[in-house]
Amino acid sequence: MNEMLKNKTALITGGSRGIGKAIALAMAAQGADIALLYAGNTAAAEETCSEIRALGVKAESRRCDIADPADAEAAVKEILAAFGSVDILVNNAGITRDGLLMAMKEEDFTQVLNTNLTGAFHMIKLLCRSFMKQKSGTIINITSVSGMMGNPGQANYSAAKAGLIGLTKTVAKELAPRGITCNAIAPGFVATAMTDQLPEGAREAAVSAIPLKRMGRPEDIANAAVFLASDMAAYITGEIIKVDGGLYI
Ligand code: NAP
Repeated sequence: MNEMLKNKTALITGGSRGIGKAIALAMAAQGADIALLYAGNTAAAEETCSEIRALGVKAESRRCDIADPADAEAAVKEILAAFGSVDILVNNAGITRDGLLMAMKEEDFTQVLNTNLTGAFHMIKLLCRSFMKQKSGTIINITSVSGMMGNPGQANYSAAKAGLIGLTKTVAKELAPRGITCNAIAPGFVATAMTDQLPEGAREAAVSAIPLKRMGRPEDIANAAVFLASDMAAYITGEIIKVDGGLYI
């Protein structure tokens, strides 16, 4: 089971913190070199890169707003030049701007769509040419059970995450003839900075609704990502794997 991703390079958006960091470390532990993109927290990105390098693989980070097509294009060019190729793309970067629909500001809706959905579109579009040339590549989109079941206060976020599921299935169909797979992971409620913002009462209520009676750990999501990136998942495409402790059954 060791080194399942040896000689591969993974590009992970939002790889500096939370779930993205756990995915980066888990893929590095399987031998992959790691390129990560982050929005602004350079200290966290540098710390994550040094933890990855300690595992004996290459790691580079670049600040990049994936919602900005020009910035995303420049970042992908730099990463391809630095690493030679990319084999695994993990579209993990995401934000929340929660609020009830009635009061939701236009900019909070579009910002979440632009980052969580359009950002993934940019990254897939920018990398698919090189995936097609090498006749291989795997794309993993981090969606959410909110995009499958809806969630009050998250009209923007659940719309973006549902959109990501449609994008995953279409990309899977379009790129399968080129030997490229595209799947998604739908986490439930995972302990990261994103869920730290929730008031204590809301956290307790969420945990009590989870059949396995605990929040997810970033590593729970990372395990699924390593599997999907590995040859063990070579015949899986267009799939959405829920990793949610049974929250959405
Ligand atoms: P997090 O701890 O808030 O980390 C978000 C990461 O995304 C950070 O690395 C951040 O960079 C980066 N990022 C944000 N906006 C970006 C942009 N415009 N361009 C590039 N990078 C950007 O989030 P998380 O909880 O780990 O969530 C990771 C993914 O899982 C998200 O897509 C989220 O929607 C999804 N998810 C999370 C949960 C949960 O319960 N936590 C549940 C379901 C799905 P900086 O550090 O520089 O800000």
